[in-house]
Amino acid sequence: MKVIIDEEVCIGCETCTELCPEIFRMDEMKEKAKVVRPEGGSVDCIEEAMEACPVSCIHWEE
Ligand code: SF4
Repeated sequence: MKVIIDEEVCIGCETCTELCPEIFRMDEMKEKAKVVRPEGGSVDCIEEAMEACPVSCIHWEE
């Protein structure tokens, strides 16, 4: 599984990038978050970011 962000929905609040900076980074041009390590990193951290995302746009993809 890998983690994806639905960019259409992301509001660029930076919550996920603060929680898991090794997985999520801000795309400064788009002012949205992007996934920099889709198959690596802490699952706990990713799930915490999923729960904390105010618009629920972080998902697992098979
Ligand atoms: S927490 Fe959600 S809305 Fe906020 S930057 Fe991350 S993906 Fe976007």
